[in-house]
Amino acid sequence: MFDKILIANRGEIALRVVRACREMGVKSVAVHSTADSDAMHVRMADEAICIGPPSSAQSYLSFPAIISACEITGAQAVHPGYGFLSENAAFVQALEDHDIAFIGPTAEHIRTMGDKITAKDTMKALGVPCVPGSDGGVPTLDDAKRVGAEIGYPVIIKATAGGGGRGMKVAQTAADMEQAFHSARAEGKAAFGNDEVYIEKYLTTPRHIEIQVFGDGKGNAVHLGERDCSLQRRHQKVFEEAPGPCITPELRARIGKVCADAVAKINYIGAGTIEFLFENDEFYFIEMNTRLQVEHPVTEGIFGVDLVREQLRVAAGMPMSFGQDDLTINGHAIEVRINAEKLPNFAPCPGQITQYHAPGGLGVRMDSALYAGYRIPPYYDSLIGKLIVHGRDRPEALARLGRALGELIVDGVDTTVPLFHALLAEEAVQIGDYNIHWLEHWLEENLA
Ligand code: ADP
Repeated sequence: MFDKILIANRGEIALRVVRACREMGVKSVAVHSTADSDAMHVRMADEAICIGPPSSAQSYLSFPAIISACEITGAQAVHPGYGFLSENAAFVQALEDHDIAFIGPTAEHIRTMGDKITAKDTMKALGVPCVPGSDGGVPTLDDAKRVGAEIGYPVIIKATAGGGGRGMKVAQTAADMEQAFHSARAEGKAAFGNDEVYIEKYLTTPRHIEIQVFGDGKGNAVHLGERDCSLQRRHQKVFEEAPGPCITPELRARIGKVCADAVAKINYIGAGTIEFLFENDEFYFIEMNTRLQVEHPVTEGIFGVDLVREQLRVAAGMPMSFGQDDLTINGHAIEVRINAEKLPNFAPCPGQITQYHAPGGLGVRMDSALYAGYRIPPYYDSLIGKLIVHGRDRPEALARLGRALGELIVDGVDTTVPLFHALLAEEAVQIGDYNIHWLEHWLEENLA
């Protein structure tokens, strides 16, 4: 095992990694920008080092700053958290050139899955079911029209380099194709420097179901079931749960095995998530994320395992501490993402926290880097905490979520907590009956 690792991230996820390190007897190094000198991850890590000004490009995203910090502190490995450099193949390569380990998959895995066309081709070849669509890239409008006519409207045009919900346009009918095709290409070019696009059938009422996988890099891999993340705003998840309310043990075993076998075959190392749209009892692959996800705690809740600990183990060349047969589901877990945002427009709301009280009690986990007196800087993501509850079944988890939200005190800034109180009162949420479009409609009717 490593003696010391560096955490190239901030906020709740940096603190999450510090906690795993401490339990494992591994020393942790926090890095921070000048805007984060008073941040909780800086206080909690064994060492901390300032790596630059507030701008992420010059601090949390700077290869030289992070590599120098490793060299100065003697950190043997880097945990990237999520976001920032977690899916940057060039960063993994740069670490390798400096003999520093990356706690995550190889540069090649990241590259393959980061290009959506290549990812889809790879998954298809590995036997993973995909959304019907074009065979690879669609270079011209004529090709796009031909594909549209073949697979039938509505279709979605997606930038191969896209991410974070950007670079995707829907064409409801053939008449929309020209506009959608050109605008997806332009967005891909502007946001990601790549205008290659491909086309998929647009599914109208799917749920978002993702499978957690984990590999040791030596051809062994397991799956840890699914998470249902169908409650989304602008393609961003706000409420996640495991197991999925509509996934039977048979469906889970079938898709789980397909995913575990696929990642075993490519010698995948570490945590990964294979995302699907799920409609009429069929799974359709959309993308793979080669990192720990924001919503990983719900999986940890129902399986009772520490995924960060496992990431460190396999990165250090050790075996995983569990096999497929050791993994059984216990109860139900739900996570809500608490953002410093003002409703109804979800405008970012940075500022000083005057009071903070985290909920507690049986089955409650609050992953947050807040404290009273902390000033949320305006430069970064607005996620300030994740409240995760675990119950013996879904109704118990929902009741616990309501109780825990009621105990939470965050004063000084606006947060998305009122949204969750309102959602818990909805029948669709109580019975788990919604698709990926439900929340957008609900917000239009209830908050606009
Ligand atoms: P990103 O990398 O930007 O997150 P994804 O490919 O993961 O993009 O898609 C994000 C979201 O967009 C999905 O969760 C779903 O809501 C919607 N989406 C993507 N592909 C389709 C499709 N073929 N049909 C319907 N909705 C889709």
